[in-house]
This record gives sequence, C-alpha cells and structure tokens, in this order.
Amino acid sequence: MRVNLTELVEGQKKELDLEVEAKIENIGYFGDEIPLVAPVVFKGKIYNANGEIYIEGIVESTGEFSCYRCLEKFQKKIIGEIHEKLIYESSPQAEIEEYFIIKNNMINISEIMENVLISALPMKIVCDEQCRGLCLVCGENLNKHQCNCEKDEIDPRLAKLKDLLQ
Ligand SMILES: [Zn+2]
Ligand SMILES: [Zn+2]
Repeated sequence: MRVNLTELVEGQKKELDLEVEAKIENIGYFGDEIPLVAPVVFKGKIYNANGEIYIEGIVESTGEFSCYRCLEKFQKKIIGEIHEKLIYESSPQAEIEEYFIIKNNMINISEIMENVLISALPMKIVCDEQCRGLCLVCGENLNKHQCNCEKDEIDPRLAKLKDLLQ
C-alpha cells in the first residue's frame, strides 16, 4: 500500500494525518513466520520539518505466538512506536535504508508497518512472565500440572563442587 506525499514534499502541506489499515498474513521473525490474526493499523502523521520528512505514530496488530518456555500457542497484541526520518531515494543515505524511502513522492506504508511490528517483538516471547515452562525430565507443562521428577541442581557453583568431589 502506497501513500502519496507530493503535497508534503512540495510544501503545500506541513502535516498529513494518517490512519491506515493493512492486511498482512505473516511477519518473519528470526526464521519463524508469525501469523497475524488482526489487521495491522497505523495511526499517526507524516510531517515536513524544514524540508525533512518524518513519520511518527503507533502500529498495532495481534500475533499468534508459541511460548518460548512452554510451547503453548497464544495470541498477543503487538504495539510498535515509530518516529523516523524518511529518506529520499536520490539521497546517499538511501543506499543503506531499506524501508523508510520516498520514491516518486510515495512511501510503501505496509512495508514500514511490517518493519515497525517486527522491531517491537521481544527476543524471547513468553505466554506470561510467570510461565513455568516444561519439565526438562518428563516434558510436563508445569503451568498445568506439577510433576514429581527429581531435578538436578543447575546452580553452576554447585556443579563445580560436585566435580571436585568426584
Ligand atoms: Zn508459556
Ligand atoms: Zn517432570
């Protein structure tokens, strides 16, 4: 989806309020495809400040994730913030910029929205900060059941002591 910025670029307008909704099926994240179960919505503005064009706003959607600890599937809202300078295709900076580019006075807003969502994701996505994960011995989901497996102490100092004693 493209947005025409001619009026901003040429200075007839200082600011363009923007609310865009795009349907994006998946976002790629470290080799995983995360399905999006809600439309991606951008709310914000694009403005001209002394000839430089900026985009500012919030991007929202809902993704379906697998918990890093317990592997359960769950849905979670993703909210990303953006405040970025847009680069003209003719500028030297355009060589290292991938998404925030003005080409023929247009930007590709869906690409930008996708990029903002991806940057908003944490490294390890868990269903809940308190998630207890799976038992390393029997594989039981410890949020649902407590198992009786004996677990080795994983405290590294104790492990060292154990080595010395052997
Ligand atoms: Zn979990
Ligand atoms: Zn167990």
